[in-house]
Amino acid sequence: MENFEHPYREKHLLDIPSYQCEKCEKQFKRKSSLVRHWEKSHRQNELLKLKLKNDHLKLKMDLYIDQIKFLKDLIIIQETLRIATIRSNGINQQNLSATNEQ
Ligand SMILES: [Zn+2]
Repeated sequence: MENFEHPYREKHLLDIPSYQCEKCEKQFKRKSSLVRHWEKSHRQNELLKLKLKNDHLKLKMDLYIDQIKFLKDLIIIQETLRIATIRSNGINQQNLSATNEQ
């Protein structure tokens, strides 16, 4: 994994831990120990975080889709209303002229 490719203080002093965890700052002498530590202590959290983020995005998307559906319905209703108003105005106009002619 890329995160582990840049050891801190490697070859500096051999008896000083040279691999530091980016998450909790624990130090390890060997890269494999750090990897094991990370897998054991942080990987689940990372996955969980990703999963939560993913769920959140899904919810957001559902919300947007609902909003779009709602707006589409609204447009259809408004258009139907507009046509109905025009028709009823036309009928009223006809009735009006009919009344005037009598
Ligand atoms: Zn750690």
